[in-house]
Amino acid sequence: MGEKGLVIVYTGGGKGKTSAALGLVLRAVGYNHKVCMIQFVKGSWHYGELDSAKRLEPEFELVTAGKGFVGIIDDKSPREDHVKAANDALTISKEKILSGKYDVVILDEINYAIQLELVSLNDVLEIIKSKPDELDLVLTGNLCPLGKGDVQSTAAEKIIEVADLVTEMKEVKHPFKSGIKAKKGIDF
Ligand code: ATP
Ligand code: MG
Repeated sequence: MGEKGLVIVYTGGGKGKTSAALGLVLRAVGYNHKVCMIQFVKGSWHYGELDSAKRLEPEFELVTAGKGFVGIIDDKSPREDHVKAANDALTISKEKILSGKYDVVILDEINYAIQLELVSLNDVLEIIKSKPDELDLVLTGNLCPLGKGDVQSTAAEKIIEVADLVTEMKEVKHPFKSGIKAKKGIDF
C-alpha cells in the first residue's frame, strides 16, 4: 500500500485484452484488494465472468453498463442509445474511481467507446488525471489509429501518453479466420 497506482492499457487487434484484465482481477483479489470492473459497449451478451464475478465477491464488483455491440452483429439500438449508455458507464466509472473504495478499477472496452466517439476523449483524460494516487486504473479495447491526425490517432496518442504500461495484443492467428465461432469459456 502507499505505492503509486498505474495507468494500464491493453490494446491491439489480437485476442486477450479483457482476459488479461480478468487475470489481473484474480491476482489482486488474492491480496483482498478491492476491484471494480465497468464494462462499456458490452451488455446484451452473456459472458462467463458475469457469474464467476459473484464467486469473487465482495472484493470484486462487475458492472455492465454498455448496450452490446455498436453497429455490428445484433445491434438494433440507435446511436443515441449507445451514447447514453456509454456516458452513463463513464459517470459510474468516475464515481467508482473517486470513491476511494477500490485498489483497482478496470474500464473494460472503454477504448472502443472513445474511438467510436460515444464518450469524449477529454472526459476520459480528465478522469484519469483525477484518479486517486494509489489507484491502479486499467483501460481495455483496441486503440486503432486509422490515419495520421484523425480522431482515433489522437485518442490513441493521448491515452498512451498518460499510461504507465501499455501492452498491445497482436493477432498472429485467430480461429475466427478459419471459420471457428466464438467459444463458450474462451471468448465469452
Ligand atoms: P477477450 O475478451 O477474449 O480477452 P479481447 O478483449 O482482446 O478478447 P475484444 O476486442 O474485446 O477482444 O473483442 C471481443 C470479442 O472478439 C471476444 O469474443 C474475442 O474473442 C473476439 N476477438 C478478439 N480479438 C479477435 C480477433 N483478432 N479476431 C476475431 N475475433 C477476435
Ligand atoms: Mg475485450
